[in-house]
Amino acid sequence: MAVTDHVDLDTFIEGVKRRNPGQPEFVQAVHEVAQDIYEFIGDKEQYHSAQILRRIAEPDRVVSFRVCWEDDNHNIRVQRGWRVQNNNAIGPYKGGIRFHPSVTESVLKFLAFEQTFKNSLTGLPMGGGKGGSNFNPKGKSDAEVMRFCQSFMTELYRHIGPDTDVPAGDIGVGGREIGYMFGQYKRITNRWEGVLTGKGIEYGGSQMRPEATGYGAVYFLQNMLKHQDDAVDGKTAIISGSGNVATHAAEKITQLGGKVLTLSDSGGFIHDPDGIDQDKIDWIKHLKTVKRGRISEYCDEFSGASYHEGERPWSVKADLALPCATQNELDGDEAKAMVDNGVMAVSEGANMPTTLEGVKVFHDAKIMYGPGKAANAGGVAVSGLEMSQNAERISWDQERLGNMLTDLMEGIHEKCVEYGKADGGYVDYVKGANIAGFKKVADAMLAYGVV
Ligand code: NDP
Repeated sequence: MAVTDHVDLDTFIEGVKRRNPGQPEFVQAVHEVAQDIYEFIGDKEQYHSAQILRRIAEPDRVVSFRVCWEDDNHNIRVQRGWRVQNNNAIGPYKGGIRFHPSVTESVLKFLAFEQTFKNSLTGLPMGGGKGGSNFNPKGKSDAEVMRFCQSFMTELYRHIGPDTDVPAGDIGVGGREIGYMFGQYKRITNRWEGVLTGKGIEYGGSQMRPEATGYGAVYFLQNMLKHQDDAVDGKTAIISGSGNVATHAAEKITQLGGKVLTLSDSGGFIHDPDGIDQDKIDWIKHLKTVKRGRISEYCDEFSGASYHEGERPWSVKADLALPCATQNELDGDEAKAMVDNGVMAVSEGANMPTTLEGVKVFHDAKIMYGPGKAANAGGVAVSGLEMSQNAERISWDQERLGNMLTDLMEGIHEKCVEYGKADGGYVDYVKGANIAGFKKVADAMLAYGVV
């Protein structure tokens, strides 16, 4: 009979560090999840003996490839592309593509690992993956972005497919980039199939997909508040980012009667004490997606607002906070300042925006804290619905998808409460999301045996 090797948490994390040198984001993500999973699996021998956590923390595969393209001045440029396929126990790999100079294998491995739990939480049949490149779309012409996307897809197409791996957008990859990549996939394979999500409505995209992540993060917040007999109406909110997730989160907060005070980009943040209303949000969406401008330009357009160069918005006093820009954008000191300022709830639109120290501050203060893997799962959930519509060659209307999104976010909240409820009515949403996400994937892996 096999002797089960029960390593303790510290030894497990040491092993993860040793096997993944120079990959701090990946180690951080595994550490955060492992703390809760260790508590949950406790004496559940089946998970230990099958080494389930160790196996989820080792991607099924990491594909790395060269992406050559020619810029407008006829210089040959060389970038690196990746696709990390973390786990497909419960469905085809699914997760976005990120184009940003900060992209590394570590960042994509952390995102693919997180995605595995997030996708499981949605209840839809999707495994976890993530991809991207260190290509910086900022300042590039449309023609340059097109040539890069075509070159990227010329390698990626071998590794994806509607039943294999279905990428989507993420930072730096919006409708324009998805269009170019889908066009190239179709050209190479001569197949029109739902291989990417986040497509335009004219060619197989889903209603509600652009709004889904930001709206979903606010629905999750709404559910957390409702659980404590409270609501968004009349509350102030600080939001970071000014991309897809941030602008749609701001829109939904405003629709629910809240007042958004801040938005940001990688240059700094704007503070508008009068509130960033729908007209101002529309102006920002145009600035960011059409003009491809900077958030600082907001202050030239709207008087009364101030721009804080090189700073993040977390020092502004508010009731609610939604980090919607990028990973590790909110540290322990900033979390402490927020708690001191009376922030009562945090819902993460971005992936892992809060550092481990920051999470501990929120946890110790017992404020409502919805981690990204639960709070921002609305985006991938509607992507899952886009896959279903493509497979059936149909399209559902906005109202139906809107209702499905609210139901999905309510369901995710319920699962977090089921596994995360603690004494005195407090809910540990991190623990709830980690355990609920883990259990479904782990049980599927047990059914497959050692593969
Ligand atoms: P976008 O590219 O549309 O916007 C990203 C925003 O974040 C921009 O305002 C950008 O500023 C800012 N940003 C990027 N990097 C940094 C940085 N290092 N420091 C400060 N600000 C930065 O991306 P999305 O809105 O789609 O994604 C935002 C987050 O949400 C990411 O963490 C992503 O993984 C997550 N997410 C997105 C989903 C989606 O459906 N889009 C689904 C689930 C999660 P700048 O313009 O200066 O680059």
